[in-house]
Amino acid sequence: MTTDGPALRNVLGIEDLERYDIESILDSASAFREIMGRHIKKVPTLRGRLVVNLFFEPSTRTRTSFEIAGKMLSADVVNFSASASSLGKGETLLDTARSIEAMHPDVVVVRSASAGVPWMLAKALGAAVVNAGDGAHEHPSQALLDAFTLRERWRSLDERTIAIVGDITHSRVAGSGIRCFSKLGAKVRVCGPPTMIPPGIGKLGRVTVHHQVEDALRGADAVMMLRIQRERLTEPLFPTDREYSRRFGLSPARAELLARDGLILHPGPLNRGVEIDPAVADGPRSVILHQVENGVAVRMALLYLTAGGTRAEVARAATA
Ligand code: ASP
Repeated sequence: MTTDGPALRNVLGIEDLERYDIESILDSASAFREIMGRHIKKVPTLRGRLVVNLFFEPSTRTRTSFEIAGKMLSADVVNFSASASSLGKGETLLDTARSIEAMHPDVVVVRSASAGVPWMLAKALGAAVVNAGDGAHEHPSQALLDAFTLRERWRSLDERTIAIVGDITHSRVAGSGIRCFSKLGAKVRVCGPPTMIPPGIGKLGRVTVHHQVEDALRGADAVMMLRIQRERLTEPLFPTDREYSRRFGLSPARAELLARDGLILHPGPLNRGVEIDPAVADGPRSVILHQVENGVAVRMALLYLTAGGTRAEVARAATA
């Protein structure tokens, strides 16, 4: 990361970032985090800049969060969703993206059902590209906001143990989380039915695989519970929701296996009563709503750093 010129050309995946880049993004997000508590939640930092949210897959939190982040920085933000687009009329994704580019956006935030689309757009477009989720591959802003939330509590992730439980195979949150937490020095335990753990998962980071949820949770400093990614399943990978919940769901008793003060995360949307018991989701160890809150600050940092902001200027940009 440089201190002059754009600090980040694109944010495509955690796989492309070094530990130093990740820490710089999290430090920048800390500077922007404070804006959210102000009475007037707006700084002029990105005035005159255009951010386009190009979402080819449904999203609630992520799209809204990027939109709020852009608006707090005074950028103009335009939402472009697949259902309202020409894709339904047979236009290719690349033609759609090129038409968007002809309107001179500074940053294009893209979500797509296919892995690799953000990398393809980054090659084709002059605007900076930020990946808001590509298929089952990566969801870098989610991993960064998760790391931000944990770092807020622990100061550092070094040698912490983080369990990720659920549909690891089809979850881009798991893909980016494993890479991000490992790069920040944490140890990651993944757990789920054998049908939901991909072979070769160990290549993504400091990972151990567990098939008994109790083994994954015992003594862990945090657990991230994941939803079964039904939209990506071509066949059922477990007998029933009830059976899944019985074997892998986070009940109050299982939550007690975590280390003292162990934290509970979930990227949302939650399937209450399936992967997580409502009493746990709403309990004192849960940081689920902090994740959502921190997501705005992290996305402010991503927009700022890709729209030409420099790391050296973050402090000034956040207090402008
Ligand atoms: N919201 C996250 C995603 O877009 C997690 C999920 O949908 O389960 O990947």
